[in-house]
Amino acid sequence: MKKTSTLLLSVILIASLISWSLTEKPGPKEIPEIRNIVLMIGDGMGLGAVSSAITVSHHPLNIERCNIIGLQKTFSSDHYITDSGAAGTALATGNKTNNGAIGVDSQGKSVKSILEIAKENGLATGLVTTSAITDATPASFIAHESSRNSYEDIAKDFLKTDVDVFIGGGYDHFAFRTDKLYLIDSLKVRGYKVETTMNAVLKSTSLKLAGLIAPVNSPSRLNGRGDMLPASSRKAIEILNKNPKGFFLMIEGGEIDLAAHAKDETALMEETLDFDDAVGEVLNFAQNDGHTLVVITADHETGGVAIIGGSIKAHKVLLNFPTNSHTAVMVPVFAYGPGAEKFSGIYDNTALFQKFLASYGFGEIK
Ligand code: MG
Ligand code: ZN
Repeated sequence: MKKTSTLLLSVILIASLISWSLTEKPGPKEIPEIRNIVLMIGDGMGLGAVSSAITVSHHPLNIERCNIIGLQKTFSSDHYITDSGAAGTALATGNKTNNGAIGVDSQGKSVKSILEIAKENGLATGLVTTSAITDATPASFIAHESSRNSYEDIAKDFLKTDVDVFIGGGYDHFAFRTDKLYLIDSLKVRGYKVETTMNAVLKSTSLKLAGLIAPVNSPSRLNGRGDMLPASSRKAIEILNKNPKGFFLMIEGGEIDLAAHAKDETALMEETLDFDDAVGEVLNFAQNDGHTLVVITADHETGGVAIIGGSIKAHKVLLNFPTNSHTAVMVPVFAYGPGAEKFSGIYDNTALFQKFLASYGFGEIK
């Protein structure tokens, strides 16, 4: 009898030891299905620009590697035809707002961006653009101002959220200000390595990097910007990927819009193909990583780009621009990687923010 109970006790003891060893000791940390999100915005890049770029290119575009496609409606809260401020704010915060507003709702109340929420959750964050970093699109992810033209106030907002890496133009809005503040020093105090040339940006090993490589906007690719956008995209990913929790990165091809405003067919193709080169860098990383969702879209269409002639064989298009301004046509969304399927369908521009939250598992924000 005694022998039996001792045996029973030993069995129980061994069983509980086994179960403890199974439950209490965690194995290697599991990587969430979606750890990183890269949102790529071709400013003003409608289907006309994309179709033209596909035709003039001698190889398939990187964008064509995405097999999940959606369409988003771009209207703002006060205009059928949006500007980049309201559209950027919708993408960044999930709120429709008035044209010209940045990171505030239609009542002027500050609203949190996906970048700020990612930061609060311990992720690394970054912004890369060919425009000034203070321009409407990147500003929508970090600033809260009633006017997109308050560039100096927007620059000041960069001292409120520690975005780990930002690369773009806009040096003058930090350095040559009407209030005489020299925000370059303020950035350094906050731990940023501030670099003003592409060479220095690409050599930097700092985990906090402010690349302010042009006074305002960078020049066009044809006029000396070279491969700044794809190279900066690669650099930003290299730095942000050091955070084991993951990252959020927004990359903008900001001058597709400018080319379409100018009705400049050559520049429109150059800028769209340059953006696509950056898409290639990001997709290559995502393909190897396996835990990165890539979403490529536009904030709105510019120029009403119509293809009225051309030849696939000759890689030529003949374009017509019925307007030198923005249009209300829906813009495409291309998605790649885990969770990409969430982005198929037709939805409002505000829906992308909710899809990003759900992808990270942050839950819904009202
Ligand atoms: Mg822009
Ligand atoms: Zn525009």
